[in-house]
Amino acid sequence: MRLVTFAQSEGRRLGALKMVDGQSQVYDLNQLEPRLPSDMIDFLEGGQPLLALAEQTLAAASPAQGIAVDSVKLAAPIPRPGKIICIGQNYLAHAEESNASAPPFPIVFAKFANTVIGPGDPIVLPQAVEKPDYEGELAVVIGRRGRNIPESEALDFVAGYMPLNDVSARDWQNRTSQWVLGKTPDTFCPMGPALVTADEIPDVQNLWLRTVIGDEVLQEGHTSLMIFSVAHLIADMSRVMTLNPGDVIATGTPAGIGAARTPPRWLRPGDVVRVEIEGIGVLENVVLAEQ
Ligand code: ZN
Repeated sequence: MRLVTFAQSEGRRLGALKMVDGQSQVYDLNQLEPRLPSDMIDFLEGGQPLLALAEQTLAAASPAQGIAVDSVKLAAPIPRPGKIICIGQNYLAHAEESNASAPPFPIVFAKFANTVIGPGDPIVLPQAVEKPDYEGELAVVIGRRGRNIPESEALDFVAGYMPLNDVSARDWQNRTSQWVLGKTPDTFCPMGPALVTADEIPDVQNLWLRTVIGDEVLQEGHTSLMIFSVAHLIADMSRVMTLNPGDVIATGTPAGIGAARTPPRWLRPGDVVRVEIEGIGVLENVVLAEQ
């Protein structure tokens, strides 16, 4: 399933995307089945029984119950994640372009919920940021609570996947040894459009991902090239922290960031940034200057 959160007059709703006659339609799962929660984290907390109920509901819906995707406002699939855990330098070519070598352990940092925006929402560049940059990434969404998760079972704890842009203010990121302020300006974590459930992705370590601005392909990577696999990352961090349904893990960006280009390619107002992941979807956001 391709699960979405979308806005309606009554507030946020849980939906699912489905192709009908070549067009992407949104099905309002809350309207079709009132037992399904409207909040994505509440839904994920319900585990397999709610997933099965959503699947049955979607399968039973008639084409006439779909809403054209262009006529609704999609939000981030998880508008307020409990955690947004990011991995630095998880592709060797990106570590090298950042003048680093392969890290011996995953480099872990965080973004906060203030950064989250949905597909089509603008990335707003603060006046104080001079070096805004893109980082297209595969995001993993946790579906089951866990601590001390063995690597061999780690993927059982995944609800699904989505594209994510770890937008970064390089001047603020590199001002001190701690990256937090460079990673946490408002709007600097676009994600979506849909949370694609794990059953639709046979091998998460076998996916192409690209970041494109206009017609320029700036990043092209493959998840087989991750230094630390999705399963390894989950196992490693769960040794110290409980992972909860709705937690988001951004698994690192491949080579081609703006900072490593000659001359650097910073985000500019008017840019439309696309993060595309094979089989998962395309996340698109326009860049605006803060007024
Ligand atoms: Zn990143």
